[in-house]
Amino acid sequence: MRLLAYKYALDPTPRQARYIAGHCAAARRAFNWGLGRVKANLDQRAAERTYGIPEELLTPRLNWSLYTLRKDWNQAKNDEAPWWAEYSKESYSSGLDALARALKNWGASRTGKRNGARVGFPRFKSKRRAVQSCRFTTGTIRCEQRHAVLPRIGRVKLHEHPAKLLDALREGSARIICATIRFERGRWFVSFTVEQSLPELTPTRPDAAVGVDLGIKTLATISEGPPVENPRHYIQAQQKLARLSRRVSRRRGPDRRTGQAASKRWQRANAQRNRVHHRVADQRRDAIHKLTTRLASTYATVVVEDLNVTGMLSNRKLARHIADAGFGDFRRQLEYKAERFGGRVIVADRWFPSSKTCSGCGTVKAKLLLSERDYVCNTCDLIMDRDKNAARNLAALAVAASSAETQNGRGADQKTRITGQVAEKRQPGTASTGKTRTPLPEGAGV
Ligand SMILES: [Zn+2]
Repeated sequence: MRLLAYKYALDPTPRQARYIAGHCAAARRAFNWGLGRVKANLDQRAAERTYGIPEELLTPRLNWSLYTLRKDWNQAKNDEAPWWAEYSKESYSSGLDALARALKNWGASRTGKRNGARVGFPRFKSKRRAVQSCRFTTGTIRCEQRHAVLPRIGRVKLHEHPAKLLDALREGSARIICATIRFERGRWFVSFTVEQSLPELTPTRPDAAVGVDLGIKTLATISEGPPVENPRHYIQAQQKLARLSRRVSRRRGPDRRTGQAASKRWQRANAQRNRVHHRVADQRRDAIHKLTTRLASTYATVVVEDLNVTGMLSNRKLARHIADAGFGDFRRQLEYKAERFGGRVIVADRWFPSSKTCSGCGTVKAKLLLSERDYVCNTCDLIMDRDKNAARNLAALAVAASSAETQNGRGADQKTRITGQVAEKRQPGTASTGKTRTPLPEGAGV
């Protein structure tokens, strides 16, 4: 059994859209209420400490578990939000759940129980900037031929036919756990979280390994076959975007300092510009999904480089191209798709000289300029496209990884290191393997 998400765009009526937004606002209200209480309590205790009050006499610490937060909210809601009955109780629950998790993460991070980057104290959700979202876990949640059915909100038209989900539900292999509504890229989406038993799949070439070199000029160079061209939709749309941006800037936009409201003409132009942005993002996501599916369904082993995405994004010249290619998302997708096919993804060490090594004789060059597009070996006279050479070196790592494994007889769930070059992640069912490595920044590719 696996948890999957089926996400569909919604076509709500204007009235429904307002009601859905209301649910998200209700979630935000509960979140901010709870956060305010926790914050006041912590501040109170901090102040008391400065007066030298002993620890055991301080105002007791608030319990911020979801259970307690919900109980307290139910006592306070008549005063805090007299309109609470207008919306599903799930919306308040969803906001408080987000708060409970945020506080838990903050606490765990502060005491060193949580890996990864430091988690800050939760902040109040602003009406303008917060993502509008709300999750339903109980009540009537269904997916029908053309509609999503949600508690209180009722039947909302789906933008597309949910064929795959309906098939799985009809077969009885899937069960809907919860539904989340979210406003993204100018429209409403519903995401059904589904528990589903999936058939065992095998890659079409179970013995083959492939090296993938992610690039800027091309989306990816594969150690065998032609390179995968970059869907440079963003760049193609640049001119269009620049034109639309000029149009936006010529019109009277909102100014919060002076309280000037945006003009109707500005709003129209801004909406046009946003549409281009969204379209580009959708096309990019599509291209990356197709590539990762193809790789995972074909090869048993895929070797990729461990790119320091955050580091590269701070380099402004490269930044746009890298973000465009969606590197971060690429690896995340590859890993979960490989797991489905029983394959594995090997992540080469960040310092593995994939570009500087000759794939013919193994000589490592001391220096290779970024402008040298072809790799020319002085030892064996090999001349090859730079990226192709790198991809081949990565593919060779797969062989090194599996032979080292048979030599020392280590189990599949172990992390293998070959002369400090490979950090291996082996699927399936080894949730613990990858966790020791630096996590990829969430959404780095978007
Ligand atoms: Zn050579």
